[in-house]
Amino acid sequence: MKKEASFWNKIEDKKVQCNLCSHNCKIDESRTGVCGVRRNDEGKLYTLIYGSCSSMAADPIEKKPLYHFHPGTNAFSMGTVGCNFKCSHCQNNSISTADPQYSHVRELTPEEVVKLAEQYDCQGVSYTYNEPTIWHEFCYDSAKLVKKAGLYTCYVTNGYINEDPLRELSLVLDAMNIDVKAFNDDFYKKVCKARLKPVLDTCELAKELGIHIELTYLVIPTCNDSFDEIRKFCGWIVEKLGSSTPVHFTRFHPDHNMMDIPATPMDTLLKIYDISKEAGVLFPYVGNVAHGDYENTVCPKCGHVCIERVGFSLNLSGLTDFNCKNCGNVIPIITDNYKKQKI
Ligand code: SF4
Repeated sequence: MKKEASFWNKIEDKKVQCNLCSHNCKIDESRTGVCGVRRNDEGKLYTLIYGSCSSMAADPIEKKPLYHFHPGTNAFSMGTVGCNFKCSHCQNNSISTADPQYSHVRELTPEEVVKLAEQYDCQGVSYTYNEPTIWHEFCYDSAKLVKKAGLYTCYVTNGYINEDPLRELSLVLDAMNIDVKAFNDDFYKKVCKARLKPVLDTCELAKELGIHIELTYLVIPTCNDSFDEIRKFCGWIVEKLGSSTPVHFTRFHPDHNMMDIPATPMDTLLKIYDISKEAGVLFPYVGNVAHGDYENTVCPKCGHVCIERVGFSLNLSGLTDFNCKNCGNVIPIITDNYKKQKI
């Protein structure tokens, strides 16, 4: 649905600048920005996808992945079309490359999002599948109502959002899983047609704004899997975000325009797991693999398994009131503040 956008300004005659994400597109009349879903019509910027939902499902929160945020709950998950990145390895390219005329879109109101979440017996809402930043106006309006209904909200995002919209969003957003796609700018430029620095800035600001964050790093052989790069990434996490930030190192599978690169070897993932521990990351995880042990939450003090995960099933018996049952160490898991209304 078309609606006037927020976060833009006129720059000359009928040309506008969108200030929502870090591309800061300058858009001529009758053209869209990089994401393909925000258009300049007669000198005004419009979102073309307000409430336009391409996909929805009730997903375990672990699928996002968020492991330290309301474990064992279901999130009503929804996405739209388009993306502000152009990743060669996109796993959701059927919607990220679709335009606003995509025939499978269902138009929703913010009120309907709350109703659907409740109807599907979900404890929260997740904006996911494609990049949620690009339908900011709808996410913000619906998240406001979701919070008022006592449910939690979360984003699965590439982190390419400017400071002002992120500050606005933080009023209604509880958690983010932010993809850090590599720890070098060349990868971002070549593979995603974007830049690394704005993503790192988002991680730091989201943390400062009190949003729970977890990071995902998809390990792609020969592209972003150098151990030196991983060491630097982990050092940055410990210094800027804190050692308790959960980090998901996930396995790459050939997809979209990156069919010529093989899946990540398990040995590489296990070595990266060890490197992250040595660097001081307390809660690293290895995802997209059958090897379940590395998806467990292990007490960093005594090594006791506090949360055991098999697929999306959980065994929380290693915890007592979110302390390690063996040694009493506090395990940082957010569980009880989702009813807190931020707005
Ligand atoms: S949200 Fe879209 S139009 Fe706006 S700056 Fe980003 S890519 Fe450009």
